[in-house]
Amino acid sequence: MGLDAYRQVLKKAKLSTDPVAIEQVRRVGRRIAEATGRTDYQWEFNLIEDKQANAFCLPGGKVAVYTGILPITRDDSGLAAVLGHEVSHAIARHGGERVTQTLLVQMGLAATQVALARNDPAVVQQVTALLGAGATVGLLLPWSRAQESEADHLGLIFMAKAGYDPHAALDLWNRMAEAAKGRDRPPEYLSTHPSEETRIKQIEAWIPEALQFYAPR
Ligand SMILES: [Zn+2]
Repeated sequence: MGLDAYRQVLKKAKLSTDPVAIEQVRRVGRRIAEATGRTDYQWEFNLIEDKQANAFCLPGGKVAVYTGILPITRDDSGLAAVLGHEVSHAIARHGGERVTQTLLVQMGLAATQVALARNDPAVVQQVTALLGAGATVGLLLPWSRAQESEADHLGLIFMAKAGYDPHAALDLWNRMAEAAKGRDRPPEYLSTHPSEETRIKQIEAWIPEALQFYAPR
């Protein structure tokens, strides 16, 4: 499911041709993926040439970063904070929940879930077709507050395990908030990841725990 949506996004997108930036995304991505210990995921990290400041990870470990977020992530540690967070949504299976919610809304059918559970081939086919178009819509929906907290918490631990100082997550969210100032619209990443004060306070409180996993490389 994640794979189909990912291929569709990549097909429509313009991939970056900047070898240094692509290498950065893959280098940091590999370390974060390794830190999750999920060898059953088919990890893939691609950089899309697009001025929007965004990034996502689909179920199964398919990650896309938009070039517009790189001035905000700034360095490897900042990027590790974003990737740790995004990967955590996939690991915690938030995507599945969100896609299901999107489907139910779009189809207007509470019965869809029941039909899917029964594995009715006609419904599965219909849903698959819809997901092609719907997955992108799903990506734009904000996560719930609880999902955000979980991804922040897990993401901090993954970045620390990967050898990135978890304090960089605080700097990242502060820069994200800063980037929102003086713009007509906040960065796209903020439309799905509001950087409220509570988020930053929570991250601060989790840093001592994350530091126990931190071994600088
Ligand atoms: Zn998130």
